Amino acid sequence: MKDSWGREIDYLRISLTESCNLRCIYCMPEGSAPKTCGEVLTKENIFAIVEAGVELNIKKIRLTGGEPLLRQDIVELVKGIKDRGIEKIYITTNGILLADKIEDLKNTGLDGVNISLDTLDREQFASITRGGELEKVLVGIKKSLNLNLEVKINSVIIKDINENAIDDLVKLTVDNKLDVRFIELMPIGQGKNFTGINNSEIYNRLEKNFGFDRDYKEIKGVSTYYKLQNSKGKIGFISPINSCFCETCNKIRLTSDGVIKRCLNTKGNINIKEYLDKNIGKDEIKEILKKEIFNKPEKHLFGKENEAEEMKNMNAIGG
Ligand code: SAM
Ligand code: SF4
Repeated sequence: MKDSWGREIDYLRISLTESCNLRCIYCMPEGSAPKTCGEVLTKENIFAIVEAGVELNIKKIRLTGGEPLLRQDIVELVKGIKDRGIEKIYITTNGILLADKIEDLKNTGLDGVNISLDTLDREQFASITRGGELEKVLVGIKKSLNLNLEVKINSVIIKDINENAIDDLVKLTVDNKLDVRFIELMPIGQGKNFTGINNSEIYNRLEKNFGFDRDYKEIKGVSTYYKLQNSKGKIGFISPINSCFCETCNKIRLTSDGVIKRCLNTKGNINIKEYLDKNIGKDEIKEILKKEIFNKPEKHLFGKENEAEEMKNMNAIGG
């Protein structure tokens, strides 16, 4: 269905947990045990929302977190969501547990996987993620490619931390059928402690070092894609800071405890789990979703004084 700004909202992003097996410096504080405000959405809660969402023309679902692969029921969730008529289902993961689970996920209907990876240097990876093992992620990526899944690498580039990783990351697109996307650091939670690199700076650097294919440019959702000459994969830019991406926003979000979020950086207005646990019917769920979708704000308010500003870290929002 359309929101009040005329945007077709057909994409629901569901956070499955706030917990994570990494502690990326710009996402979660060191050592913190994440606290979910309420109970985590059950499989049944999620299926009820998906059934209602499908009738409102939700076509695409992404499972995220925290780390979604920590959920023991992840395979059943993917299967159940796909069986309910969702056209495309994706997971965003840090990739640490991917190699073990990807085959089962593919067999139950997963269409693709976004893997967060900010460097190809083992020590730098361990430092950014506070202890992550790069090798595990690389094996997961390889397996996902071998299974012919859609694979996207999401990278956040931070000043004085991993600017030197940019060239190696984009080189992955030359021989592999995967996209590398640069997501500008957002001033959310721990992200406020760092300075991101503007995507226009990354674009200019790549144009100078490699050169883009002049005949290729594609805008898809909030990403703008380019290609290096003769490469198999694309390079995407998601630029919430440098150029507001809200005009093409097509999504709403659900936090792992059931709060519906109209926008990434505004607090939610309603916790749908409280209603689901009272066994409300599909029509009532649809009414709640319709109201939240219709009232999506026109744009995010990063950097502006804003009473409704989201103060949580990204793992709790469901990045
Ligand atoms: N744990 C999974 C992962 O890392 O892919 C899924 C959740 S994580 C919160 C989703 C994405 O949010 C990751 O790609 C991460 O880099 C990104 N992220 C976290 N904090 C961010 C911030 N302040 N600004 C921009 N992206 C951020
Ligand atoms: Fe965990 Fe993902 Fe946040 Fe890193 S970005 S701490 S992997 S939730």
